[in-house]
Amino acid sequence: MVTKPRIIEKARSEGRTLLTEIESKELLKETGISVGDTKLATSREEAISISRQFGFPVVLKIASPDVVHKSDAGGVKLGLKTSKQVGRAYDDILAAINQKHPQAMIQGVSVQRMARPGVEVIIGMSKDAQFGPVLMFGLGGILVEILKDVSFRIVPLTKRDAGEMIREIKGYPLLEGYRGQEPVDVPNLEEWLVKVSDFVEQNPEVKEIDLNPILAYSSGALAVDARIVLETTP
Ligand code: ADP
Ligand code: MG
Repeated sequence: MVTKPRIIEKARSEGRTLLTEIESKELLKETGISVGDTKLATSREEAISISRQFGFPVVLKIASPDVVHKSDAGGVKLGLKTSKQVGRAYDDILAAINQKHPQAMIQGVSVQRMARPGVEVIIGMSKDAQFGPVLMFGLGGILVEILKDVSFRIVPLTKRDAGEMIREIKGYPLLEGYRGQEPVDVPNLEEWLVKVSDFVEQNPEVKEIDLNPILAYSSGALAVDARIVLETTP
């Protein structure tokens, strides 16, 4: 019998189905996709000491199962270069969340390195009443929000399905290296899709996954945000 991950147990014991960014990244580590070290700070001082360990610049984000869209709520501060900026960002995030989500259960603030720019892509999973788990791939940011330029495949995915899925979005030329930009590592993204598909098969209690954004590079990629929703009943 497989023992359920500690993270899922903890969320269940607190009666919630939404995992925080830190919990989601922790769970996804087992898939082998890179999520980057992300640590929880529960005080201003701790946020500063973690930032120093990581090295500047860093990013601070609200860690709360009640805040789904962190930046909309003033809960994300990017490119913090000094301890002073980190301290201020910590206070500003808590003040913004207290104002916008006064009832929110706040675990603390997550700290991670500021990643270098890449092409933002997303990988998502949701469950269809007829087809079961379905993976989604698309370009991140406004391209997904406004243009809905995404592709879908039913789980389980082969490497070949993943390749087709990536190539069929309209924005694919952006991944091939548009106007002198370096092409992104598409074979790596294919592997990621297969890894997420495997993870979904192995974790039926996961209802939704949202990796948004993943920063895709000429070699490798990094998921800087992750959100997992569990099924209501295990
Ligand atoms: P949310 O989607 O809940 O608003 P995100 O964690 O996705 O919050 O952060 C918002 C945006 O900030 C991302 O879409 C990305 O552009 C940027 N971002 C987040 N984390 C990092 C990071 N570690 N390095 C660089 N940019 C980041
Ligand atoms: Mg996000």
